[in-house]
Amino acid sequence: MKNNKVIVIGGGASGILAAITAKRNQADVAIIERNSRIGKKILVTGNGRCNFTNSLTSVLDYNNPEFVSYGLSVFNPQRTMSFFNELGIVPKIENEGKTYPLSEQASSIIDVFLYELKRLNIEVITEAIAFKIIKKRNEFEVFLEDGRSFIADKVIIATGGKAMPKTGSDGSGYEIAKMLGHKIVPVFPALVKLKLDSPYLRHLEGIKMPAIVELIHNDQVIQKESGDVLFGNYGISGPTILQLSRKAMDLFNKNQKVYIKLILVSQISKKDVRERFNQSMNKPVDFSLIGLINKRYISAIIKEAKIDKQNTLVKDLTEKQLNKLINLLFDWRFLIKGSKSFHDAQVTAGGVSTTQIDPMTMESRIVKGLFFTGEVMDIDGRCGGYNLQWAWSSGYLAGESAAKENDND
Ligand SMILES: Cc1cc2nc3c(=O)[nH]c(=O)nc-3n(C[C@H](O)[C@H](O)[C@H](O)COP(=O)(O)OP(=O)(O)OC[C@H]3O[C@@H](n4cnc5c(N)ncnc54)[C@H](O)[C@@H]3O)c2cc1C
Repeated sequence: MKNNKVIVIGGGASGILAAITAKRNQADVAIIERNSRIGKKILVTGNGRCNFTNSLTSVLDYNNPEFVSYGLSVFNPQRTMSFFNELGIVPKIENEGKTYPLSEQASSIIDVFLYELKRLNIEVITEAIAFKIIKKRNEFEVFLEDGRSFIADKVIIATGGKAMPKTGSDGSGYEIAKMLGHKIVPVFPALVKLKLDSPYLRHLEGIKMPAIVELIHNDQVIQKESGDVLFGNYGISGPTILQLSRKAMDLFNKNQKVYIKLILVSQISKKDVRERFNQSMNKPVDFSLIGLINKRYISAIIKEAKIDKQNTLVKDLTEKQLNKLINLLFDWRFLIKGSKSFHDAQVTAGGVSTTQIDPMTMESRIVKGLFFTGEVMDIDGRCGGYNLQWAWSSGYLAGESAAKENDND
């Protein structure tokens, strides 16, 4: 029996793991990577620390729990940690299961990958952009933009999505997949900053503080998160917002009105806040808010309550104005008017439709011998190590399956 020749297009997280796995399963493996180095995106993950998995990963952390279920059970976070531990990465588990290398350096992941690729004698062809694959009977020909082409028994498309294209993932994998008959679910940036329609952004710009945030659609709470929020002149960001952004943009793209609801006061009741105002009747309204909310919110929230003068005495407010102000402290809504672009996004929602991929092997259901891994597929997870976990899990399944006996006629 001859060894399979496997070509992996894309030397990112999932492609590298697929290549190592295929080679460990006796395949002949080459990686084709457009950049001059592999793993450029890995370097920027987790703010340079690489949150490479999450010990609490569940299928519910992904857009398609059913599809990811098998892969996450086979190559689960524990297996990810022991895979990397064997390569030299000691895992450090932080809050909410977020796991980093003990060295706190994303470059450690690249270093151990480079060592392992070399040790296994895996060919890495850099500065090579694949743009077309042709299936000929039971083999594939992969064409590069520079005129070269390579023959393989199996091909793994690991080209990533469109998020942060300067790292190499510019969506070219979708075009290659389309040429081979695959359906592409429309893509949009996810884990991304949101643009808000608000006249107060100028006042709020620069605020960074913890808050409880809800995503509101049809007056229903769709998702609730708490943590830091950060206002900019375009809108809002921060870990809480990234977590809400996927659902927000999915609805927004369907022309739905979606709101970010900020709960500025959560430790005391509305009744207590009312009582506080009753005690401050002779104080200016802006002063009456000091000690309750961050000072930088004050001028905007007073304007939003339709109170013209910031220094109006509390006793001179109409009942309507006071009620509105109190309600805003517990429910301040901002209409979402879009998101930042792929340049600013951490992942891509949408991609190669999973309906045409076998979740047990990552093999195409329509082109035998062709596999997909990582973000190029219509799979995305929450922020917190879940997306890299999917890259490893899917890379493992594809690498193992692609190394198996040639049956792609
Ligand atoms: C700023 C930022 C921070 C992030 N932080 C985290 C984090 O801490 N934890 C986490 O879990 N996830 C994080 N992610 C998401 C995570 O990095 C990705 O989900 C993951 O890298 C996807 O792996 P992949 O193999 O599918 O694609 P990628 O890692 O994007 O790799 C794709 C590779 O294919 C190459 N390529 C593309 N097209 C071609 C072509 N036509 N020919 C040849 N080569 C090609 C690219 O150059 C690239 O090297 C972050 C993302 C960003 C942008």
